[in-house]
Amino acid sequence: MDAGLLTAGAVGSFYTVARGSQPVVAGNPVPGKMTYRRLGRTGLDISVVVAGEMDLLPMHERAYELGVNYWHKVGNFEHPGPEFFKDKDRDSFYCDMVIDTLDKEGAIAQFEWGLKQSGLKTIDFLKLHSLYRDPKDIKKYSGIFKAFDYLKKKGETRFLAVAQHGNTVEVCAACIQSGLFDAIQPNFSVFSPPEMHDMLAFAKKNDVGVICKKVLAGGERLWQRRPDRKRNTEKLLKKSDYTLGQTLLKWALDVYGVTAVVPLITNFEHLEEDIAVGFEEKTLSALESKANTKALRDLAEDLSTDYCRSCGRCTSVCPKHIEVADIFRFEMYYSAYGNPRKARRLYGELPSTQTAVECDACGSCEEVCPHGLPIISKLRSAHTLLS
Ligand code: SF4
Ligand code: SF4
Repeated sequence: MDAGLLTAGAVGSFYTVARGSQPVVAGNPVPGKMTYRRLGRTGLDISVVVAGEMDLLPMHERAYELGVNYWHKVGNFEHPGPEFFKDKDRDSFYCDMVIDTLDKEGAIAQFEWGLKQSGLKTIDFLKLHSLYRDPKDIKKYSGIFKAFDYLKKKGETRFLAVAQHGNTVEVCAACIQSGLFDAIQPNFSVFSPPEMHDMLAFAKKNDVGVICKKVLAGGERLWQRRPDRKRNTEKLLKKSDYTLGQTLLKWALDVYGVTAVVPLITNFEHLEEDIAVGFEEKTLSALESKANTKALRDLAEDLSTDYCRSCGRCTSVCPKHIEVADIFRFEMYYSAYGNPRKARRLYGELPSTQTAVECDACGSCEEVCPHGLPIISKLRSAHTLLS
């Protein structure tokens, strides 16, 4: 983060705290008022910045103090768990839990295990974690809907959501069309194609709430691969008082149909920086400017062949069924988000027949990749990092 981008006033004084030598923890001043938006037909007013996986309990406490009221992926990780939730009014926050099976019994077992881990009696959303390859899968696997109905009747959950990072536009549009889902969580960033914007507008039209993931598109370390362009972009963004990361989040929040964003937060500095984007809605107008959007798009254009959009076209033609998009996502966790432990764990969980080592360089994937990624060489580098 470039301190030169920060200005005086409320936001500036906040960063004096955020960038000081002491880590920012619960109890420090709260520098702004969080913005809340209605999450579609659920009617829930959620903070425009949502909290996700964070390693340390004090980070969750600080997020709560800053006005965040939605936690995603509860029950799957150590935090936030009972220690965090025990002193919170249950009406003061919402949360979801990831389910990674479409099988009725498996989903019920997984959900109830996670519920126990969380120490909560209800988790607001049961969320399918990128389980659909094709829109046809929604009708094909009815077990998950039976599981949801069963858990809802027991009072253990209330709404159904889907997170998607493969064939995202088609699958999310079909989920909206089905009328079965109350909220969607797509990957969405300045790299996303125009069809993604159409899908978000479709969600809005159908009153389906949208929480966007991967908005930072690889984070600071990806942008640093083009330092000159990054510097130029930051100069252009200077007037907005935001860092590049904040501008990316704010840009997404301005897109029609988007309710909230969930940035991956790995340290206290990013926690304060990312959550501050939810403060003071009035700053949106400056960031809506064409110049800012153009600056972000130009930067994305320069990095285009570095960034996998998880469209899934490569995997659909790969004779070896290699999970290319997943492997590139894990590589991003490693090199862009600085989380090698998670990246290696996820890569290790892939079936051995679908890892990068099985690639025989036939080239079919590169022929269909709409963004010209050098898939074969990227797979090799990813395998070296992740194995
Ligand atoms: S080059 Fe490798 S990843 Fe690409 S289609 Fe062929 S086997 Fe699959
Ligand atoms: S490598 Fe290309 S084709 Fe494959 S998922 Fe990523 S963007 Fe799509």
